[in-house]
Amino acid sequence: MSQAVNEVVRLQPAADENDRVETAAYLLEEAAPEEALRWAFDEFQESVTIATGFGAEGVALIDMAVRINPRADVFFLDTGFLFPETYDLRRRLEDRYQIEIRAFKTDITPEQQELRFGSKLWSTNPDLCCRLRKLEPLKDALYGRRAWITAIRQDQTLERSNARVIEWDYQWRLVKINPLVRWNKQQVWEYIANNNVPFNPLHERGYPSIGCTHCTQPVGEGEDERSGRWSGRAKKECGMHAPVRPTTFISRTEMVGRRHLT
Ligand code: SF4
Repeated sequence: MSQAVNEVVRLQPAADENDRVETAAYLLEEAAPEEALRWAFDEFQESVTIATGFGAEGVALIDMAVRINPRADVFFLDTGFLFPETYDLRRRLEDRYQIEIRAFKTDITPEQQELRFGSKLWSTNPDLCCRLRKLEPLKDALYGRRAWITAIRQDQTLERSNARVIEWDYQWRLVKINPLVRWNKQQVWEYIANNNVPFNPLHERGYPSIGCTHCTQPVGEGEDERSGRWSGRAKKECGMHAPVRPTTFISRTEMVGRRHLT
């Protein structure tokens, strides 16, 4: 078998898995987050991982996931530029749920980054900075997995507006489960309050969405919840979540035909 054919096989879900995933994508589109999580753990077992950025959605998702699967695998991308409150929240979540939240990070230290690319890369070229400090580590985090779970919501950004509960992630080439995709901000905070979930205290100081220190500002009353991220720039996403997403689940057969898109 040629290397090209091998690559196609490796990059696609197996045919029988694809049928199950397509069916679940259809059946669970309106389901409660817990149902999508239960399905993901049943279907993918050890081969599914949960990404968290420690936002309000992320902590709610961890709480739900650990109730269903106390051994759930959870990771975050440690850019080296996170707020002290965020690192502290990681520790509090680990204590509360008795889990390890694994860190994935680049080998490039902030000092090396400055030497190689100049000072304040997050200001001169934030896309490159995100690629080095988030997207490359994300590749490592997803390596060998068949699925990942994220806490994105449709109403957060235009780029996320057609995300589905279960979809094929053609950027990272694995199944993506977004259990909270239909929730709004109020539902997330009600869940946090009702379940006494630990959250980042910065949320109470004007930061509805929290990323790196260099690229996160507090927002004013009534402003868009993500307007403090890369404030003053067109950039709205770090690149983890593909901006253009088909409106339906892409079948294995279609994927083979769409490989030129990625
Ligand atoms: S959010 Fe800002 S500091 Fe963090 S990786 Fe992206 S550009 Fe760099």
